[in-house]
Amino acid sequence: MKLRVLGCHGGIGGHEVHTTAFLLDEDVLIDAGTGVTTLGVEALARIDEVFLTHAHLDHIAALPLLVDTVGDRRTRPLRVHALPATLDALRQHIFNGIIWPNFSRIPTCDSPYLQLVPLPTGAAVDLGEGRSVQPLPACHTVPAVGYLMRSARGSVAFSGDTGACPAFWDALTALDDLHAIIVECALPEQSASLAQAAGHFTPRTLAGAMRAFPRRDIPLYITHMKPGQMTAIVEEIDAMGRAFSPRFLHSGQLIEI
Ligand SMILES: [Zn+2]
Ligand SMILES: [Zn+2]
Repeated sequence: MKLRVLGCHGGIGGHEVHTTAFLLDEDVLIDAGTGVTTLGVEALARIDEVFLTHAHLDHIAALPLLVDTVGDRRTRPLRVHALPATLDALRQHIFNGIIWPNFSRIPTCDSPYLQLVPLPTGAAVDLGEGRSVQPLPACHTVPAVGYLMRSARGSVAFSGDTGACPAFWDALTALDDLHAIIVECALPEQSASLAQAAGHFTPRTLAGAMRAFPRRDIPLYITHMKPGQMTAIVEEIDAMGRAFSPRFLHSGQLIEI
């Protein structure tokens, strides 16, 4: 299983700075932020499944254009998996015939370009070839999940957008095939009150969560840093994170399991 980082920032700002999107092998997308725009049309058309963590724009921005771009090149609908509340938000606010067409009925109701699929509660979605994607708990300002991406050789956990969320870490504690954790740290300490209100980690709150997490052997990758505040966030994580040796995710990075 190959996980390619298409976008791992909390904003935009040049060729290397895109919002959240990870490509799992060639056919599965985890979030559909602006990182998706780095793929060519053929690569876009090979995506069969999209898993959204939540409805915020930085995680769905490229989805409307993706569906429109590849719809006529595909023989089956693009399947978008998300919480029911996230799917409702997409129907009401994006694919509503005003902001963008309702591709769940285009070109026909029987053979649409887009299929919206509610996530099963607590269960994994089987993707074939020994792979699966399972929702994980997350604590954000809107209904949100993280994901556990699993192959026969191991798993990678992704927090999505979250602040302090003991249930996320509890879900990982007993996993014996966990190879890496990708966790957000969106804002520096000077924005701590904003981070608290917006459901994001700062270096201090992330360090607190890590101190309570017993698995120091698992590589930890930091994602979703706000582009204009990366220097401060990196310095603060380096200072607070020595006990858990965090690494910083970057665009184009490949994590192989
Ligand atoms: Zn968010
Ligand atoms: Zn976000």
